[in-house]
Amino acid sequence: MTNLNPAAEALEHARYLVEEIGPRGSATPQEQAAHAYFSQQLEKLALQVTSQDFSSPKSAWLPVGLCVLLSLFSLLISLPGGALLYVALALACAALYWALREVNLDDTLLNRLLSSGKSQNAWAIIPPAGEKHNTVILLAHLDSHRTPLIMQSQFFSKIFAIFSLLGYVSLAAVPLYLAARLIVGFANNLPLLLALAVVMAILSALILQADFTPYSPGANDNAASVGMALACARQFASQPLAHTELWILGSGCEEVGCYGIRRFLDRNRSAVRQARFIDLELIGRGEPSIVVREGLLFKQGCPPDLRLIAERAAERIGRKAQPQESPVYGESYILNKQGFASITLNAIPQGKPDAYWHTPRDTMDKLDPATLEMIFAWIKEIFVEIDRRA
Ligand SMILES: [Zn+2]
Repeated sequence: MTNLNPAAEALEHARYLVEEIGPRGSATPQEQAAHAYFSQQLEKLALQVTSQDFSSPKSAWLPVGLCVLLSLFSLLISLPGGALLYVALALACAALYWALREVNLDDTLLNRLLSSGKSQNAWAIIPPAGEKHNTVILLAHLDSHRTPLIMQSQFFSKIFAIFSLLGYVSLAAVPLYLAARLIVGFANNLPLLLALAVVMAILSALILQADFTPYSPGANDNAASVGMALACARQFASQPLAHTELWILGSGCEEVGCYGIRRFLDRNRSAVRQARFIDLELIGRGEPSIVVREGLLFKQGCPPDLRLIAERAAERIGRKAQPQESPVYGESYILNKQGFASITLNAIPQGKPDAYWHTPRDTMDKLDPATLEMIFAWIKEIFVEIDRRA
């Protein structure tokens, strides 16, 4: 691949990941193959690769689905009243607490119990040509998501959004209802119970359906980004930045709750405290975009100075970086939440979110070489800007 330009090289890596390895479910042998490929490509550049093994849940959906089912179960066992009401209240509180921690991507007893999958991170460090003043960590996740029904069309997404909202309300309403029963001592309110039970039954079915679907080929989410990270590794290993140490990181298990970056921070917290993280996600088609706010229920914003650097860099390549609010999380959510500085770079086609995201149609033919060329130029300008800073 030595004669290829960075965009063509990124595409070749993406093709290998998507077509030779295939869909790369979190903590599956295919994700492990992607990790091995990523590591080998870095080693070919004479870089020293560090590998980190960790345990992770294998599903983004199961922990939340179990919380909803636990809350539903607590309602059922509360029916006879008496001492069982106390048990039901304790279970309903646990379900609400775990669900909130889960959507905020915090470690809980529940997700630790479900951490039966084996996954890996890999990274290599490219030292600067001169004295080190800055650290940049360019990251892309190696896994691909499942293809849940709720992500296959706008219609199902809207239904899910409605039931998610009702679900949060129900998860909070159940402990309140049970506490009120204990304190005031009123009898079962069957219409209210039925309404809560129906919402939670439908929501848990929509959530748990995801785990019965195949994995996405993940060309745009996120093979193109992994390919770009590797292409950047080649470029900046042969022509290092003047004062910026560059880490190239391929993370595991992003799609099930960002476990790769969580465990990476556990291990490298002090070494990367001052680093700026550039997270690549869905960069294969469209116009440049910056995720300025993200998160499922709780939200995280990106640091203003990194946003400015990325916006100015886009202007220098003749583009305007569209600000984007994401209703889901990416690895920047964890990083910014834990006080690190991270920005996610995207491309968005025609100003709209990618229609093939988390579908079986996220295939190589959807990637656009011109977009990847633009993204490489953008990343390079961001690096140059950071490199200038003392
Ligand atoms: Zn992704």
